[in-house]
Amino acid sequence: MCWHLMVRRMRKPKITIVGSINMDLVTITDEVAKQGETVHGEDFRTLFGGKGANQAVAAARLGADVSMIGKVGDDAFGSRMIENFEANGVDTKGVGMEEDTPSGIANIIVSDKDNRIIIVAGANGKVDRTHVEHFSEIIKESDIVLVQFEIPMETLRYTINICKKEDVPVIINPAPVTALEGEYFKAAAYITPNEHERASLFKMREDGLPEYYDKLITTQGAQGASYFKDGREIVMPPKSVDVVDTTGAGDTFNAAFAVGIAEGKDIEDAIAFANTAAGLAVGKIGAQSGMPYRAEIG
Ligand code: ATP
Repeated sequence: MCWHLMVRRMRKPKITIVGSINMDLVTITDEVAKQGETVHGEDFRTLFGGKGANQAVAAARLGADVSMIGKVGDDAFGSRMIENFEANGVDTKGVGMEEDTPSGIANIIVSDKDNRIIIVAGANGKVDRTHVEHFSEIIKESDIVLVQFEIPMETLRYTINICKKEDVPVIINPAPVTALEGEYFKAAAYITPNEHERASLFKMREDGLPEYYDKLITTQGAQGASYFKDGREIVMPPKSVDVVDTTGAGDTFNAAFAVGIAEGKDIEDAIAFANTAAGLAVGKIGAQSGMPYRAEIG
């Protein structure tokens, strides 16, 4: 075993997430109000969310040394979200509290007929390159950096460029679907779309393979997740579970895959580890509340 892999295995892998931090405001209602109408709902919950924060919490529970780079607002949600990171062992040095700005929220209305979601970026929209630059030492010391598309794309490009310059592998989870120039996807170690994101973002080449196929890890819900080997797509089945709630499945998968790769696992073992972690998450209710701890996986 080479020297740097031995060192890696002797300490926890260092993972940095540059991304969004949200409070999910979930209203459960039988009836959805029409314009000008007021109705009574059945229940209301405030749940910790945001793809960046979810992935940070999941990676920390799976045993990584995790740093979060992002911003919350200077409101009650902001303080609670920082406390939540601390309770989960996520380092918050890189989390700023933006003055006169609300924290990012997702207003989620769950009814029998459909779900309606309104996201307000709030402080997430103020994660700019100056903020990331300020914490670039954290990025440089990381084994892996994991990013999603819920912060300004300009900041994302800057983050990927730092990773490239410093030779730190970056995993791009291209969610929610947003256009990004090919040079940034080329700079990624892995790209982790779900099937819908992959179909929207990556064209098929003349040989029938999708662009960047050699970096693509595609999550496929109940089918598991796939990767490409010798020009063929290999689908690895998920853990067989009784599905309770799939919220946060993708975030748990991404975090676990990053932990696996940072620990030196090969791609198949990292996907198997991520399928197991995400399977445990879908077996429980809630996004962060369902995310497993390392001891549950073994
Ligand atoms: P979400 O947006 O709901 O978090 P996603 O669309 O990003 O999810 P999915 O492809 O639905 O991601 O699921 C991610 C991973 O979760 C899958 O690759 C698989 O490991 C696990 N998973 C999802 N659904 C199931 C299921 N029904 N049974 C077992 N595992 C599942």
